[in-house]
Amino acid sequence: MDGVIDELHSLLAGRRVAVLTGAGLSTDSGIPDYRSPASPPRNPMTFQQFVGDPVFRRRYWARNHVGWRHMDAARPNDGHRALAALEHRGTVLGVITQNVDLLHTKAGSRRVVDLHGTYAQVRCLACDHRISRFTLSELLTEANPGFLEHVRATTGSEVAPDADAVVANTDEFRVVDCVQCGGMLKPDIVYFGEFVPGDRVERAFALVEEADALLVAGSSLAVQSGLRFVWKAAADGKPIVIVNRGQTRGDRFADMRVDAGCSETLAALAATPLRAAS
Ligand SMILES: [Zn+2]
Repeated sequence: MDGVIDELHSLLAGRRVAVLTGAGLSTDSGIPDYRSPASPPRNPMTFQQFVGDPVFRRRYWARNHVGWRHMDAARPNDGHRALAALEHRGTVLGVITQNVDLLHTKAGSRRVVDLHGTYAQVRCLACDHRISRFTLSELLTEANPGFLEHVRATTGSEVAPDADAVVANTDEFRVVDCVQCGGMLKPDIVYFGEFVPGDRVERAFALVEEADALLVAGSSLAVQSGLRFVWKAAADGKPIVIVNRGQTRGDRFADMRVDAGCSETLAALAATPLRAAS
């Protein structure tokens, strides 16, 4: 690890670094990474499924009503803390994250672009009215008396990492609609088949543009929504470092590849002082 950290230092010292993070950064906080090589295959939900299929939507909300608590209870790990510390020291300029868990913000990072939204907000697809996930939780609990008690009795816990396992029968679950207009509510998260809102993409590109280097941590860059920032940095001739377990679609653009866990690598990077950008 020492040699790797030395090499990272020589690449990043004196540069302002934009950071792009993915699911691999949050696995040490107990949030499963469904795309990593070690994970079982799984079909991610698409936007079309969500809006087009009422049965699917009911199942989704029933599971989410249990599962969101797990994400809400998750805490930042050494990797999140290292990036926050590096930002306070002036090395990291800001973070673009594909994660919806808010763990960068919880760790104290100040400039964060939540590229795919966050678990904590819910949006009406008809009138754009937004409520917090907590508020929706209260409405769903009211509409489904006894549901959470039943889950708790079945699992012995209110907090389940994989709600699929504990919510078997969702036929009776009642979904809640927008209180303003009766429209369909959806987590304010970008799903497969959706575009990232333009203002967010602009803020992310601005961050990469302002920076002198790009560090990718915990993403296999499987989707273009993240990969395009690697293309941008590469086109501008900026050094690119990728820290990820397993191959990524950005590997051929990288000046350096670290095939290791994010939290230990980032913690080691932050432990030895980097010369801040002047
Ligand atoms: Zn509405």
